[in-house]
Amino acid sequence: MTDQRGTDLKELQKLDKHIADARRRIGEFDPRLLEVEEPALLLESELGTARARLQELKLEERRLDLGTEEKRTRRKRLDERILSVRNLREEAAVTAELEAVKRALQNDEQEAMSLIDQLRKLEERTADLETRYSEASEHLGPKRDALLTERTEAQKELESLRAERARFVGDVSPAGLKVYDAIRSGGRTIAVSDLTEDGACGHCFSMVPIQLRNEIRRGLQIIRCEGCGVILTSATPADAAPAATEGQGA
Ligand SMILES: [Zn+2]
Repeated sequence: MTDQRGTDLKELQKLDKHIADARRRIGEFDPRLLEVEEPALLLESELGTARARLQELKLEERRLDLGTEEKRTRRKRLDERILSVRNLREEAAVTAELEAVKRALQNDEQEAMSLIDQLRKLEERTADLETRYSEASEHLGPKRDALLTERTEAQKELESLRAERARFVGDVSPAGLKVYDAIRSGGRTIAVSDLTEDGACGHCFSMVPIQLRNEIRRGLQIIRCEGCGVILTSATPADAAPAATEGQGA
């Protein structure tokens, strides 16, 4: 009864620590999810690049085919024209043009062969990436689901801790709560600390005057450490500890 105030604040601090732990755990899920998703994301990106390149090569192949087609038509026309030339000059001109078209066709042929080779390799690579990506996605699903389930559980736990805190602070003395909240509002997580056995602040270990130690053990008022400002409480209430003896001896 005498130590009620300090005990309540200590309980509140424990609850707040659980809440902070739960929040930290929830925060840790994002990097874990990313880590699980990363292999599939990388393969997806590689696959996207390979497919785009494949598309480009196919367009190039189509352009080359059209060019070759056009040159073949020209060669056919020249083959016909050479049969109806009227003089040597005309024959020489048609022959030269025919040679040029034949050379261009040979170039096209070589280019087409190299393109076919590139296409075949890229198609193999794309197929391989597709297999690996679908495998990675398959593995990713259950892992991600498990993590998401775990996160939902952690969020539920946090909600229930917050509800517990809301109920709990209803029973804490308003004066104590005000000091407690003021200390924590500065970003500090420790607002309450027990005296050590030899009468020092359990947080910063500066010695607490004997008179104050007895006050703390009685637990009738809020006493803060002169060194660090935490609310001091006693692990052993006045009626259980040999306060008078220690007071004389220390
Ligand atoms: Zn202190």
